[in-house]
Amino acid sequence: MPQPRKPLTLTDARSVLQHGTAKLWTAAQLTDDERIPRFYEACKARDLLQGLPRSDAVQIFRARAKHTLLLADRARHGWSVTTVCRLCGEQEESIAHVLSECREMADVRPGKWPTVPMSEILWCGDRAAMRTSAKIMRKFLQRAMR
Ligand SMILES: [Zn+2]
Repeated sequence: MPQPRKPLTLTDARSVLQHGTAKLWTAAQLTDDERIPRFYEACKARDLLQGLPRSDAVQIFRARAKHTLLLADRARHGWSVTTVCRLCGEQEESIAHVLSECREMADVRPGKWPTVPMSEILWCGDRAAMRTSAKIMRKFLQRAMR
């Protein structure tokens, strides 16, 4: 029969983290001089969202959190009774629909779009793909709220 876990004290938790981290650094066979540049490199590559203009970053952040003003997200929170697209009336008004499927947004999308899957655009897409996504979503909301 499994025993209940003994509560971990703060000192024990610190010790576990310090030794675990030390093991990782040792496994990577890095010297002290190599660790700091690696750390800064990791910080810089943190998130492309930070390099976007504020309005685009907000749109992408909302899409990632699924807190857009699209009906699929509103319905999930009980704020809308329908999820049918306000522009084409054919499918669910979701992020994927707006960005790549809605025929009413065809004029806003670039020719070869999307170039990578939607999840990649939102989470690790390049800067141009993120900006294009934000632009499409903004334009959709403008048209839907007329
Ligand atoms: Zn549509």
